[in-house]
Amino acid sequence: MRKKIVAGNWKMNLNKSEAEILYNDLESKSYPDDVEVIIAPASIYLDSFSNASNVSISSQDVSANSNGAFTGEFSAEMLSSINLRFAIVGHSERRTFHKETDLLIFQKVEMLLKHGITPIFCCGESLFDRESKNHFKVVKSQLSQILSNLSSEDFSKIVIAYEPVWAIGTGLTADPQDAQDMHFFVRGLILEAFGKDISDKTSILYGGSCKPSNSKELFSMKDIDGGLIGGASLDSESFESIINSF
Ligand code: PEP
Repeated sequence: MRKKIVAGNWKMNLNKSEAEILYNDLESKSYPDDVEVIIAPASIYLDSFSNASNVSISSQDVSANSNGAFTGEFSAEMLSSINLRFAIVGHSERRTFHKETDLLIFQKVEMLLKHGITPIFCCGESLFDRESKNHFKVVKSQLSQILSNLSSEDFSKIVIAYEPVWAIGTGLTADPQDAQDMHFFVRGLILEAFGKDISDKTSILYGGSCKPSNSKELFSMKDIDGGLIGGASLDSESFESIINSF
């Protein structure tokens, strides 16, 4: 009943010709009908890939502002003008390196929704949070803005990505049962805030060193609806194998 999604976050990797080769390769493959395949290339390539038909294109970020004197930023309206349907927000690298707060991320979500773009909303605890057994509390607080301040209609358009920070790019993957426990917890928060229908329908992706060797087990968990993939999305065979892991 929920949409299965595998999204590749290319981060700041690949020059133009490398990106084109990977994009063309992914565009030419066939995927299971019930899986939405998304790639998030660097922003300067978004426009040249916006005619994709076999994969969907996502931005890796967006400005919280609508327009004006914000050098280097790009707006949700600009993304919508090149027909983009998805944008990642709140990735842990932006929270850490760009000091993005929950409030700023919420403002980005609002901008995207206003322009008809689906936010892929990232959350996840640090190793310190997990070791001090605060992981549920931390994730709940990262979600609080969108749970408290969005209408149910707006929330129903969001995709959540749970990405434990200690698993991103480290080769360490969450134990599938631990990941399932967090996904179940997040779904419970959505249930409390918006009711059963929306909680049943919200796709919650897992991210953090997801690769062909662990994706099947992760995706077999009841509340894991796919993955947000970093490193393994830069290799078309690995990415394809993850897409075929459901
Ligand atoms: C990510 O950056 O969202 C991610 C999950 O990266 P990796 O798969 O490389 O851990």
